[in-house]
Amino acid sequence: MKLIDGKLISEQIKAEIKAEVAAMIDNGARAPHLAAVLVGDDPASQTYVASKEKNCQSVGITSTLYRLDKSITEKELENTINFLNNDPEIDGFIVQLPLPEQFDEQKIISMINPDKDVDGFHPVNVGKLVLGQDGFVSATPAGIMEMLKRSGIETVGKHCVVIGRSNIVGTPMSILMSRTTNPGNSTVTLCHSKTQNLKEIAASADILIAAIGKPRFVTADMVKEGAVVIDVGIHRLEDSSKQSGFRLVGDVDFDEVSKKASWITPVPGGVGLTTIAALLQNTLKAYKKASL
Ligand code: NAD
Repeated sequence: MKLIDGKLISEQIKAEIKAEVAAMIDNGARAPHLAAVLVGDDPASQTYVASKEKNCQSVGITSTLYRLDKSITEKELENTINFLNNDPEIDGFIVQLPLPEQFDEQKIISMINPDKDVDGFHPVNVGKLVLGQDGFVSATPAGIMEMLKRSGIETVGKHCVVIGRSNIVGTPMSILMSRTTNPGNSTVTLCHSKTQNLKEIAASADILIAAIGKPRFVTADMVKEGAVVIDVGIHRLEDSSKQSGFRLVGDVDFDEVSKKASWITPVPGGVGLTTIAALLQNTLKAYKKASL
């Protein structure tokens, strides 16, 4: 078994971005600028946004956080989005999900200028993904494609099973893997909560991508000997043996599945890190498009 090292791969991507940004600044350009809108005080969202800001700084991308109270109205949020849509100094921005329950997330995402939608969630960017046109690809699937590419994993003609059909992970992942690209060109099966014979289908996968949101859901009996296993899940499980009182696990039972897999992503140290690196790549892309 070989580890797909998310830390190593994300560091490679970040080093490339850092060098490119430094060269542009040396040539007199301003730094790329990513903004994040955080509504409310959800602890996990605060952690994610803080990590994104820290990573921006590490590669020379300017970041600005717009914190909004959880009680704001849709109109107030729309005003902030419009401000960012129109500010030429902002190359891209994200609205951190989940939003408080009074908001219709799809409606809010649709307010973002697609050219600044570095999360790739806007319908225009999802449509471009489906059509194979150039746009912004959701960061988690984009980061997984980088992992497959940089690990030299063969995907052409392979059976790729994606478990989970969310708009931000499972569905775009299945589309990317079925496109005529490399990585890609796989035969894709998309499984979800209503799939029958999930175990049999998963066990027929050459590449198994788990984005289910259930801790250690994928067990060794669901995995073919020699399969490539990508674990998207992140869960905090209580663990009194740890100083922090918890440990992070994924959607895959790593200890057992790693005995059968040819390649596997760890949690932590896997998809979470390449997701952030892919967001930085999207920000640089937005910046370059804006300065054309
Ligand atoms: P989601 O809850 O939106 O979607 C989960 C999907 O799993 C659904 O489509 C559902 O049909 C499917 N599912 C649920 N139960 C199932 C079952 N019993 N059998 C088959 N399919 C089932 O979740 P999401 O946003 O796609 O996230 C999935 C996981 O990935 C979560 O743990 C989330 O925290 C994690 N995540 C990690 C990153 C990262 O950067 N590493 C990014 C996004 C999400």
